[in-house]
Amino acid sequence: MEIHIQLTTERITEHLPPPSAALGAWGEFRGVVRGEENGATIAALEYEAYQPMAEREIRRLLTELSTAQPCLAARVIHRLGIVPVGEAAIYVGIAGRHRAEAFALLTAFMDRLKRDVPIWKRRAVTNLNVIEDRTPNASGHPKSGSVSAHSASEVVTLLRELCQPLATERVALAESNGRVLREAVCALEDQPSFDRSSVDGYAVRQDDAGTSFVVVDELRAGDWRPRALQPGEAVRIATGGALPGDGLQVVMKEDVRVEPGKVLVLKRDGDRNIRFRGEDAKCGQILVSAGTVLRHGTLGLLASLGCVQPLVTRLPRVLHLATGNEIVSPDQFPKHGQIRDSNSTLVQAFLSQWNIIPEQRRVAEDAPAIQSAMSHQLSEIDLLLISGGASVGEHDFTRRLLAEAGFVIHVSKTTARPGKPLIVAQRGGTLAFGLPGNPLAHFVCLNLYVRAALESWSGQFQRTDFAAGELTEDLAAGGNARESFWPARWHLTDGAVRLAPSRWQSSGDLTALAGANAIIRVRAETKQLPRGSRVEFMNTEGIG
Ligand code: AMP
Ligand code: MG
Repeated sequence: MEIHIQLTTERITEHLPPPSAALGAWGEFRGVVRGEENGATIAALEYEAYQPMAEREIRRLLTELSTAQPCLAARVIHRLGIVPVGEAAIYVGIAGRHRAEAFALLTAFMDRLKRDVPIWKRRAVTNLNVIEDRTPNASGHPKSGSVSAHSASEVVTLLRELCQPLATERVALAESNGRVLREAVCALEDQPSFDRSSVDGYAVRQDDAGTSFVVVDELRAGDWRPRALQPGEAVRIATGGALPGDGLQVVMKEDVRVEPGKVLVLKRDGDRNIRFRGEDAKCGQILVSAGTVLRHGTLGLLASLGCVQPLVTRLPRVLHLATGNEIVSPDQFPKHGQIRDSNSTLVQAFLSQWNIIPEQRRVAEDAPAIQSAMSHQLSEIDLLLISGGASVGEHDFTRRLLAEAGFVIHVSKTTARPGKPLIVAQRGGTLAFGLPGNPLAHFVCLNLYVRAALESWSGQFQRTDFAAGELTEDLAAGGNARESFWPARWHLTDGAVRLAPSRWQSSGDLTALAGANAIIRVRAETKQLPRGSRVEFMNTEGIG
């Protein structure tokens, strides 16, 4: 049975093609979110899943159930994230030879889905305009607006809730590298769309056991000249050439001897050397799912399907302000007491991984200067990044200025280091980060938090997460009471991920960034991690 599974944060399309192009009967089921949950009126339900496991279980379940109810094909789409009332959370389409089997499999599958598949209702949302910060503080109240410290993972969870996928646009294939596809792309015809030779050779009738053939035609790739081959006839055909008819076999040219006007077959096995129509994919089959980050391989596939204007997520508009009286442009020679602005370059290069080109300015540490730079087109900006001035020193204005500009402050500090002072604020569709000025904190905060916001906005299916690796040397973590994020360099040795932690003296130590391509998470109170310890790390160069 053909099985197509899609777990998506996208709205489920109203009209889907049958799950199989084969003839027969097909039935579909849509589970729509109702406006009531446990007696209360709701606006939406939020679904969560262990994604790879959920997909595996759905496949296993369908395979198991189809032994009793043999069917041709099944398509299951489950929506994840926030699903508003009235919209479908699940779609199941089953195609069978007869309707009784299709319906029986549909019913059996729906009965088992809830029990066996790790997809669950996380919570009911009562007001879609207010997706509240539900992380309670010590007194059990939501922290929104408060100054209590958040853990790094709490900040990431909050950002994923605040940043729902941005609107979509159609762009040319050449511009869509690295962008996130927002609609499933199906095969509009069988792939390949005609029977074609996979070798250079001679097409003969498969039922013709003779060894001497008269060559009656020659077909190159691109030619199309159908003919009914007679016994004893062969057509010379090139790789990729369209077969002239059905019931043929192509004998490789290496296995024949060419004589004037004929060929003698020296060797012939059962291999037909044909790529048959529909062998790679059937018409209607989903080939690239919504949420896929488009890269060169996938883009090549889209081109082959004629999908030349893919629907992708629009890019966020970003304004970055580097604040500080001490910073000068990197091409200037700093006076005593001044330093070169490295954060603007760091931010710009970080964002360019998503093709985002920020607007960037250097501003003095002075309220009116920052205010005027900030107010500039603020409502047209999705992301405001302010480097420096995030802590609570006398000259650290970021928090106050954001609050005065009407931003709701969600986070003011974290329990992680580096990046203790960190501001996350929101005003309408604009998200703002106040990032502590030192470049190492920038490296960590951009990768931990800004990345989470960008990935969430992009609607990409897979999120960058922590993976496991092994330390190549001791890591003296110093028993710090705070969770630490340590720059490191990962590499593969004998198929295993090894991590060399960077040496850093203080959070202002930029030399630690030389060659850093990872961040190691070190739990609070860890004193020493000996060489060979397994640690969690994030690949900071791994997008999509
Ligand atoms: P702040 O968060 O403004 O208190 O800055 C913390 C540290 O980071 C100070 O030592 C600053 O000089 C340094 N810093 C701030 N902005 C930058 C920048 N754009 N480039 C490099 N260092 C910076
Ligand atoms: Mg400063």
